[in-house]
Amino acid sequence: MDSQINEIKSRIDVVEVIGGYVRLQKAGANWRANCPFHNERTPSFMVSPSRQVWRCFGSCGEGGDVFSFLMKIEGIEFVDALKILAQKAGVILKREDPKLKSERRKYCDISEMAAGFFEKNLETAAVGKEAKKYLKERGLKDETIKEFRLGWASESWDELLNFLIAKGYKAADVEKAGLAVKKQNENRWFDRFRGRIIFPIFDLHGQPIGFGGRIFKENADKEAKYLNSPQTFVYDKSKVLYGLNFAKQEIRRREKCVLVEGYMDLIMSHQDGLKHCVAVSGTALTPFQLAILKRYSDNLILAFDMDEAGQKAADRGIDLARNLGFNIRVLTLPEGKDPADYALSHPCRLETEAETAKPIMDYYFEKVFNKFKADSAENKKEIAKILLPQIRQIPNQIEQAHWIAELAGRLGVREEVVIGELKRNREGNDVPSEIDEITRETAQKSPNKPREEVFGDHLVSLLLKHNLHFDVIRDFDFSPLKNFTFALALEHFKKSDGEFNYEKIYRDTPDHLKNYLNKIELESQNFEIKDPLSEIKSCFTNLRRHLLDKRMEEIKIILGQAEKSKAHGQDAELMVRFQRLASERQKLEKI
Ligand SMILES: [Zn+2]
Repeated sequence: MDSQINEIKSRIDVVEVIGGYVRLQKAGANWRANCPFHNERTPSFMVSPSRQVWRCFGSCGEGGDVFSFLMKIEGIEFVDALKILAQKAGVILKREDPKLKSERRKYCDISEMAAGFFEKNLETAAVGKEAKKYLKERGLKDETIKEFRLGWASESWDELLNFLIAKGYKAADVEKAGLAVKKQNENRWFDRFRGRIIFPIFDLHGQPIGFGGRIFKENADKEAKYLNSPQTFVYDKSKVLYGLNFAKQEIRRREKCVLVEGYMDLIMSHQDGLKHCVAVSGTALTPFQLAILKRYSDNLILAFDMDEAGQKAADRGIDLARNLGFNIRVLTLPEGKDPADYALSHPCRLETEAETAKPIMDYYFEKVFNKFKADSAENKKEIAKILLPQIRQIPNQIEQAHWIAELAGRLGVREEVVIGELKRNREGNDVPSEIDEITRETAQKSPNKPREEVFGDHLVSLLLKHNLHFDVIRDFDFSPLKNFTFALALEHFKKSDGEFNYEKIYRDTPDHLKNYLNKIELESQNFEIKDPLSEIKSCFTNLRRHLLDKRMEEIKIILGQAEKSKAHGQDAELMVRFQRLASERQKLEKI
């Protein structure tokens, strides 16, 4: 197993894998990005190609190798990460230990088999063929149907269930995979999806994890038009964007993302050439989905149905997106068509249309001034009521000032009046707390470092970064601080002589210290020091000062206790020690 892990690691580049999830920018020998595990606006997430490790220097402080990254970002177990990376590296894993097969793997396998089953039905079952004919009438090509793995779930109550049971799965597991429903108070199950066109929902690696089912022959049935997988061990609709596995590279390349609603809009958009496009399905835009998109691009183009109801649903997502720092544009297609219909009636035009998307404020202004004429006090009040909350949301003050002036001009009032209203109408806004939720869920605050550790880590990083001569630390005894990793590292450094040589040191370093050195080395990329030698000296002084203070404090406490208990035996000796420390401390003040 270990040799296979090493083989995978040697064939895989951590930068490439992480680059599949976040936008990495070159920073010296390393790469940096906004941390995907907590919400931040300045990048503190570092990846080192030479060490093949990553680390966040922001509030979450996470770090590790390519396996731990994949496990954390996908929320999967080691065996799952192993399987994904082995595939990527072209390493064939020795036979999988069935005990090692994770829960997740089991449900993924069930979903995979179901997807294949539905696909085959679309080609061979009688009604399946009709469903396929319908899809082609809607404009889908054969290769698109294949690429998105569309399928057909027959009207039968237990066709899929029987198929999966014959493959060795328990009905209860099929239920947990979201594909079967248990009859109340009975030990019987039936298929969840019946008489529906099936849209598999994929994770970022193209693995089916959930399903959407669209009713076919709707007159024959009074059921909901769309039915989705429930929340399962592997599928959480609030955290999945439909089509992202197909779109992620193009979104990063184009530095923008078009957001549509529903399966058909997404698939038709991709087929039409608009490949930087993802869909929300069965949910309003959630903070989790936005956090995922933020890893790929800051620019969102909304191609939502913006009628009254659609707009209400979109508004909340827009507010959230703004607070996360997205630039938002709104795409309105000619004749009010949705992307699927437009692609069918005007082939190969979507991409050009997407370029005409309007900035969100232009869109709001146009919409409101189309609805109300600014010719009466009543209408002006209505217009302001709609636009002021939008203007208030603009995080950039210059941009905000622009729209204040625009509104004042079009209403025929002075800017101060608009500004006054803007301040007056400040109402409670719960958006930030929802963004905190992402941070809370994905990150744990690292506890505050003790002072000596701050100085110690800084010392190590200075030595690592500036190849200084070891004499600067030679005289200091770090052993009393051996509870801290930095002290172990510095004692280790002292054993070598002459100039600092990172490669040599690193080779001789025991594994538990290597991780620490990786972390510190990455950290040192975050700051520039003009005069490292004097920085080291002051760092040393601070460390000494702090240690002296601590020891003096300890003596004071002992003396205080002796005072109370009237036991003065040791006092004289302690006083002498205290004096010695105090004068040493005084010398340090003069440096
Ligand atoms: Zn972080």
